Amino acid sequence: MVTPTEHAFRPQTERTSGVEAGTFRILIVDDDPSLRRTFPHVLARPGRHFDECGTIGEAIERLEHEHYALILLDYRLPDANGLALLDWLVDHQRDEAVIIISGEDAIDAAIAALRRGADDYVRKPYHVAQLQRAVDGALHKGALEKANKLMSQRLKASERLHRYLVESSPDLIFTLDSAGRFTYVNPRVKALLGYDRSALMRRPFTTLVMPEDLDRIDGLLSQPSSLPGESFNVELRLRRYRGGADSESDSVTVSLTGIPMITQEDDRRVVGLYGVARDISERKRAEEIITFQAYHDQLTHLPNRVLFKDRLELAIAQAQRRTGALAVMFIDVDRFKLVNDTFGHAEGDALLRAIASRLSATLRRGDTLARLGGDEFTVLLPDINQPEDAEVIARKVLDALGAPISLSQGQFRATVSVGIALYPRDGGTAEELTRHADVAMYQVKRSGKNAYRFFDPDLNTRHRDRIALENDLRTALARNELDLHYQPQVSVIERRIVGLEALLRWQHPVLGPIPPATFVQVAEEVGLIGEISAWVLERACTQVAEWRAAGIEAPRLSINLSAHDFHRANIVASITECLGRHALDPDQFEIEITESIMMDDTTSVAAKLRELRSAGISVAIDDFGTGYSALAYLQKFPVSSLKIDRSFVRDLEGPMTNPIISAITGIARGFELELVAEGVENEEQARALRALGCDVMQGYLFARPAAAAEARNWLSSPERLFEAFDASSATAHYAN
Ligand code: C2E
Ligand code: CA
Ligand code: CA
Repeated sequence: MVTPTEHAFRPQTERTSGVEAGTFRILIVDDDPSLRRTFPHVLARPGRHFDECGTIGEAIERLEHEHYALILLDYRLPDANGLALLDWLVDHQRDEAVIIISGEDAIDAAIAALRRGADDYVRKPYHVAQLQRAVDGALHKGALEKANKLMSQRLKASERLHRYLVESSPDLIFTLDSAGRFTYVNPRVKALLGYDRSALMRRPFTTLVMPEDLDRIDGLLSQPSSLPGESFNVELRLRRYRGGADSESDSVTVSLTGIPMITQEDDRRVVGLYGVARDISERKRAEEIITFQAYHDQLTHLPNRVLFKDRLELAIAQAQRRTGALAVMFIDVDRFKLVNDTFGHAEGDALLRAIASRLSATLRRGDTLARLGGDEFTVLLPDINQPEDAEVIARKVLDALGAPISLSQGQFRATVSVGIALYPRDGGTAEELTRHADVAMYQVKRSGKNAYRFFDPDLNTRHRDRIALENDLRTALARNELDLHYQPQVSVIERRIVGLEALLRWQHPVLGPIPPATFVQVAEEVGLIGEISAWVLERACTQVAEWRAAGIEAPRLSINLSAHDFHRANIVASITECLGRHALDPDQFEIEITESIMMDDTTSVAAKLRELRSAGISVAIDDFGTGYSALAYLQKFPVSSLKIDRSFVRDLEGPMTNPIISAITGIARGFELELVAEGVENEEQARALRALGCDVMQGYLFARPAAAAEARNWLSSPERLFEAFDASSATAHYAN
């Protein structure tokens, strides 16, 4: 039987109870069998099951085996009244809902029943709707209670879990009240900071913070109520309590996250703070190590370039403020490369470490010694009154290295070159001061090493040009900026070209042509000359081969070699190899060297010259007469010709006026050497030379050095070279 109210009740019951309808067992206790039969009809719903009995005794018997959601209890029963069952239920802590159904209309009975724990009271004869409402209501309430109970059980479990998590957390977890005082802190505080939890209660959080860090949390924790309501994160150092009253307490670095506690009401006030502090000391230590490595040199543990620059910039700013002075020293170990190359890198490293520690020992607290890399050190003297102060330190630095350093392969005496730049005199920036100290150091290197020197602005420009030139020269070969020009050597009597001298040219992309006098010496100093000479040799041979292929037979070709080339072991082999590769006749080839070569290492140079000569190659002494003029070497060294230096030719005025040239021609004749006069610019010089017995000449009178194309023209029509000479001779002749 379905009643009109059915739909109104059921869904509501199910939804609000939060539990599924499930099955409801209902016990009907009434001595009237007809009622017992009609109730199930009236109250039937899916999921409801009905049991029935006629006495309290029977009811208890059932209840002992069965659990019910609801009992419909007649008030008056044969063995006792319904109150007895209510008492039984209470005694047995049962949670069945009970609706008393009774003909008693005395209000006392109803009140007594409700007091004893009945949930509702329905009077007989009942209205169906009334009964249905009572039953639905009781079942609903029961379901709610059950759900509540379950929820609170779950809550308890969850709270236990959270408490466990908080209490055993490796992080420091706490709550503060609105005044920033502890209201809770987890036990971790003992292990981490050494405090008892109880001792911290009601104490301000700020008492744990290291004084230096207090301003970081200014206001955040002491007054959470002023927070904007968002979480925040700060890094702090917390005091570690070690008992006693030591003020120098150590600390633990933590990363603190704070979340304001906000009221649920509309005003959303901040009433406290949840805090989680994580110990990040380990991470901090790792960071510090990484930072140290970024700012220090691995080998010596001295500050590196970055840190030095940083400190220098700071010192400059300070000096600026108090209009003070400071000094930067650039220290470079002399001949360090030699140690490295001779004894190996391990010894080199040991030497650098030893030097670093000696240098450190000479400095005061506050000075910074840094290693820039390699064998370069810098010193910052942040506070000096006059240049002499820096001088004193520089002298100490040189002295500190006076005693030999013991390395595993023996004793080594290290010296250094020291350059000094002063602020503000020599520069206003870290970069400038360091560079100028470097320039000064470089000057020391050039003038004998093992000394100190102050920066001199005049030297700077030259130094800068020189450095730029060095750098450009390194790339000149690769960029194909070098070229050879050729100048003829002519026999005036035979009116022919007897030789060509190859002269090096550098077409600098910005500076234009740079004369060899400027860059050859630089190339020698920076060790590029070998490469350049090899290029010259190759280029000259290629040129002769090209001419020959074009049907032009070139005369003897001379190239200039530097003294450095003769220190190379394989110089002879590389010349003969090149000639051979281009199938050139060694007779047609000459090298020009200066007298200075003969002074260096006589035996090995003599041997090389002999090899060249026996291979058929000519050797000329260039600039003859300007050097040592020790004729003895002409006996020792197998040269083939002499080139009279330009300076003697320039001084020629009349046929007999130059005793040096007469001497040179005499020597040449005596040693059976060819003779070439250089720098012949006018006819008068040419005539004087001829009168002195010198026939072969080279100079502007005949031709200026010119590119290969022009040289080729001379080779095919050599008469052109004598045009100027003939013209002046004619004039001279006429004049006579
Ligand atoms: P050097 O070997 O004595 O070369 C002769 C120099 O005199 C050349 O200068 C040439 O241009 C110049 N000259 C020639 N005739 C006259 C003249 O009538 N009057 C005047 N005033 N000068 C004349 P350049 O080409 O500037 O070379 C200068 C020096 O550079 C050379 O002197 C030589 O020592 C060196 N050099 C040139 N090319 C090379 C090279 O390929 N290798 C090496 N190692 N040194 C070279
Ligand atoms: Ca020459
Ligand atoms: Ca010369």
